[in-house]
Amino acid sequence: MGILSPRLEINGKALQANLAQIRKQADGAKVIAVIKANAYGHGALDVCKSLDADIFAVARMSEAMEIRDIDLHKRVIVLQGVHNIDELKLAEKYNLEVVVHHIEQLKMLEKAKLSQPIQAWIKMDTGMHRLGFLEHEFTDAYMRLQAAKCVAQPVHIMSHFACADEIKHPLSLKQIEAFSKLVPEADGDIALANSGAFLNFPQTYADYIRVGLILYGVSPLVEGRPQDFPFQPAMTLKSYLIAVRDHKKGEAVGYGATWKARKNTKLGVVSVGYADGYPRHVPSGTPVLIGNRRVPVVGRVSMDMLSVDLGPDAMEQVGDEVILWGEDLPVEDIALAANTIPYELMTKVTLRVKRLFHT
Ligand SMILES: *Cc1c(COP(=O)(O)O)cnc(C)c1O
Repeated sequence: MGILSPRLEINGKALQANLAQIRKQADGAKVIAVIKANAYGHGALDVCKSLDADIFAVARMSEAMEIRDIDLHKRVIVLQGVHNIDELKLAEKYNLEVVVHHIEQLKMLEKAKLSQPIQAWIKMDTGMHRLGFLEHEFTDAYMRLQAAKCVAQPVHIMSHFACADEIKHPLSLKQIEAFSKLVPEADGDIALANSGAFLNFPQTYADYIRVGLILYGVSPLVEGRPQDFPFQPAMTLKSYLIAVRDHKKGEAVGYGATWKARKNTKLGVVSVGYADGYPRHVPSGTPVLIGNRRVPVVGRVSMDMLSVDLGPDAMEQVGDEVILWGEDLPVEDIALAANTIPYELMTKVTLRVKRLFHT
């Protein structure tokens, strides 16, 4: 039995199946697996070790260095690029590929003296307006990178979508058009599609697709998880019942006494709360899974616990496993209930939760 505590179980086979499914659908495009933010909570080192994606991508140098602690050879892109000469030297030393999205980064690469050229991905701002060279800056920046001695040739090209999680959003079409107008006859590779674009805009596949969420088996679509979604969730958040109590009609439960029983019932107490990363803001009625039965959360989620209404005829017992999200309880549904997105729930499971990666 061991010690009971919330657990995050990661299904490595599901990740592999999802990667295979992406490749099957990708029209020959290769796959950049986005493993920033500890692989969206799945464990960046485990995911990197067990997956044979063509390239991996992280947000920051600090994340890239953690990957290099365990693997010196897989291709790794740093999506935010390097911001000073120390970072640039480390990127060189550890053979990391850097995104160049800002004039300061470009100037640094022009000035630097490296013993071997570094692989660069230039980022075009086609309408997201967060990072990247604007359309009128792009050609000049691209040519300067082509001329920079410490930049490996050819320079690769990328852009990022703001609204690809919505079917036929006009900004996505505008971004696609801006990109196709400006991209030169380049030898470099092109990477545009994130998970949303992968699902909604097949014309964006290009040389590489750059995906996180669907790799983890989760849908980015604003309307939630489609019926026939072909990807398998890899993450399951579980805990246990630590109490089953008789509860009288009219009685409330939890902080703020926000929910009252409409009839005599049994309440279960689950040892998981917002300090584990379960969202505090879900309303009463949000489902959890016990065995194959869905039962509703009732009252406010506390730091270490939440209550569920098991019903008057409940057979559940202390020690029974409770699934908060996973294979048969989509994290997309819990995110909708919590008025957030699955990305946030998956990345915010806290260190208190034991993580188990099953290869
Ligand atoms: C996070 C990120 C991605 C992956 O997005 P998903 O929606 O998880 O597929 C792709 N590109 C960039 C630049 C990112 O920051």
